Amino acid sequence: MKASAFAYARPTSVADALGLLAEHGDKAKVLSGGQSLMPAMNLRLISPDLIVDIGGLAELRGITVSGNVIRIGALARHVDVLNSPEITAHAPLLTEAVAHVAHPAIRNRGTFGGSLAHADPAAELPACMQALDATIIARGRDGERKIAAADFFRGIFQTALSADELLVAVELPAAQQKSAYFFHEFSRRHGDYALAGLAAQALVEDGVLLDLRLAFFAVGDCPVLAMAPNTLVSVPVTPKRLSEALAVLAKELDPPTDQQATGLMRKHFAAVLLTRCVSLLLGRPEPSANGRAA
Ligand SMILES: Cc1cc2nc3c(=O)[nH]c(=O)nc-3n(C[C@H](O)[C@H](O)[C@H](O)COP(=O)(O)OP(=O)(O)OC[C@H]3O[C@@H](n4cnc5c(N)ncnc54)[C@H](O)[C@@H]3O)c2cc1C
Repeated sequence: MKASAFAYARPTSVADALGLLAEHGDKAKVLSGGQSLMPAMNLRLISPDLIVDIGGLAELRGITVSGNVIRIGALARHVDVLNSPEITAHAPLLTEAVAHVAHPAIRNRGTFGGSLAHADPAAELPACMQALDATIIARGRDGERKIAAADFFRGIFQTALSADELLVAVELPAAQQKSAYFFHEFSRRHGDYALAGLAAQALVEDGVLLDLRLAFFAVGDCPVLAMAPNTLVSVPVTPKRLSEALAVLAKELDPPTDQQATGLMRKHFAAVLLTRCVSLLLGRPEPSANGRAA
């Protein structure tokens, strides 16, 4: 199948792109890497009148570190994030996670901003944004607004962006000395969307979790920042406390059943992920999971 006919514009500045979006509203669609938009158009799931191709806007590229803030431009491609020494040094969770995004051909074109704006509930990067407490920067003709990742993802393919805004960048705090992270997902094959996954960022001192942010993905309409870790923070993690956390988690999650997995199966995966995460962060590694001190 081919996409319906559409008009195409390639603005040369962010201001021009925003002008086109303001003029055409929800009849226009932004094109970044095209790895999600084009398949959706070819399947005629969406049929925009106008494509606004922002691929040439150099000001939306780049990864920079300033003080303890990492800024990732919306047009940074997955491969740029994967190969970035700054990201490896200051946000190693992302290096680990982005290696699970699709396959090399898709990572060569797909962009960081595109993945967040697309907001697939099974995508890795939205969950990482929650775990890392990132801020999403959206720009419209009236200026910029900063949106906490926890408020950005609203549902399946739904975000806080309005039709006349561009996601221009993301800012996240650099990992501290005591930072540790965990990333793992269950999927049928490496590169497939996850059946269930967990991105976690923690502060660990003397075998105690001082802070723990757990963002589960593929278990709901958008990434779930779990409350379960509250019972594990600032106390020695005993088997009893871990069981309590697992019980809280079981109540928090209500994963969907689809052709890929049942809700019950996803819940089981989530419990396994939490157990592995805690073991690894506290230095009791399990052989099949990934995670280490930053
Ligand atoms: C076979 C296959 C497997 C995949 N597997 C995975 C996977 O395992 N995990 C995963 O996370 N992803 C996966 N993807 C999706 C891939 O990561 C895409 O790169 C990503 O979802 C979208 O990025 P993009 O730059 O291609 O965005 P596009 O396809 O260009 O755009 C996606 C959506 O976001 C909007 N948009 C894009 N950029 C902006 C912006 N700056 N501001 C506002 N709106 C914007 C577009 O209008 C569109 O609605 C897969 C894709 C394919 C084809």
